[in-house]
This record gives sequence, structure tokens and C-alpha cells, in this order.
Amino acid sequence: MKKEHLADYVLSIPDFPEKGIIFRDITSLIQDPDGLKDSVDGLIHSLKGIDFDLVIGLESRGFIFGTAIAYEMHKGFVPVRKKGKLPRETVSVAYDLEYGKAEVEIHKDAIQKGMKVVIVDDLIATGGTLEAACKLVEKLGGEVVKISVVMELAGLEGRKKLAGYELESLICYE
Ligand code: 5GP
Repeated sequence: MKKEHLADYVLSIPDFPEKGIIFRDITSLIQDPDGLKDSVDGLIHSLKGIDFDLVIGLESRGFIFGTAIAYEMHKGFVPVRKKGKLPRETVSVAYDLEYGKAEVEIHKDAIQKGMKVVIVDDLIATGGTLEAACKLVEKLGGEVVKISVVMELAGLEGRKKLAGYELESLICYE
């Protein structure tokens, strides 16, 4: 049965992947036809009036939503992947995680100078991943015109890190 709120499709899993973390699970959202449709439609709505050329999705849950949006809006889709996964020439950005470091990459020829780009992911926590993705786009001369995510963990203040960008989330957890 169709649920009243989009957030009702998301399961919150305590102590995953580590003790003390509540993981917001989107597999329960996307396995439901209404959950999938409403979340993709919500993200598409967030792009209303935005002029853009390309959708970028972040590995790996950003691929699910990003591709659906790009298909529906007849734009190309470009993946940002963890280091070592892309087969052609890449540019990369390293960033700090809570424990350790991560590095993300994009194909060098994926963005032409001046292209307007939308970045999509399932969730913003500290904002480090999205910030790295913005840097990748800008390294290639692209412009990030919007960041759209399904969920935001507001308490982690990722929005502050992305203060210079337009950011919209469909579900906000305090
Ligand atoms: P950040 O870089 O903002 O701290 O972390 C965001 C990244 O971690 C996103 O790519 C997201 O997929 C993943 N992530 C962190 N916590 C969660 C969570 O509770 N649920 C989901 N679905 N993804 C998470």
C-alpha cells in the first residue's frame, strides 16, 4: 500500500555498519514501486527550472537515482567512482573520512569546460563525498548547478561544507 511519507519507506538499521550508527537503508525504498517512483519524481522535481547538461551519480547508490533521473530527463549520466574502478584516463580527489582517507575519480573526458552539472546521491552525512565530487567537476571546468539527494543527516552539518552550492534533500533526519 502507498505510504503517506517518503521517509516511511526507509528502514533505519541500528548498529550498521558499526556499533552506534543508525544506517538509513534505501533498499526498502527502491524495492517498493511507489517508493522508487516517488523518490525519483521528487528528485526530478528538485531540478525544476534548473538548466543543466549532465547528471553525475556517486558510487554506488547515487547510480540508482542518478541514472533514473538522467533517463527521464534525457541527459547523459556520468559515474563518480572509488579509485581504481574506471578504465580510461581519470582525474581524482582524495578526502578525509572519519577514520582514514578515500579517493574518488571521474573520467577526464566526461565533462567539457562550461558544462552545467547536477550531482545526485542517496544521502549526505558529513558532506565529504559530495564536496569531493564537486571538486572533480570543477577540476574539469564544469559548473555544479545543483546537488540533489534523497536523504540528509542534518546533525552532521554536511550542508556547511557545501555552503556555496544549491543543495536539496527529500528527507531530512535531525
Ligand atoms: P559523507 O561523505 O556525506 O559523510 O557520507 C555520504 C556517503 O556515505 C554517501 O555516498 C552515502 O551513500 C554513504 N552513507 C553514509 N551513511 C549512510 C546511511 O546511513 N545510509 C545510506 N544509504 N548511505 C550512507
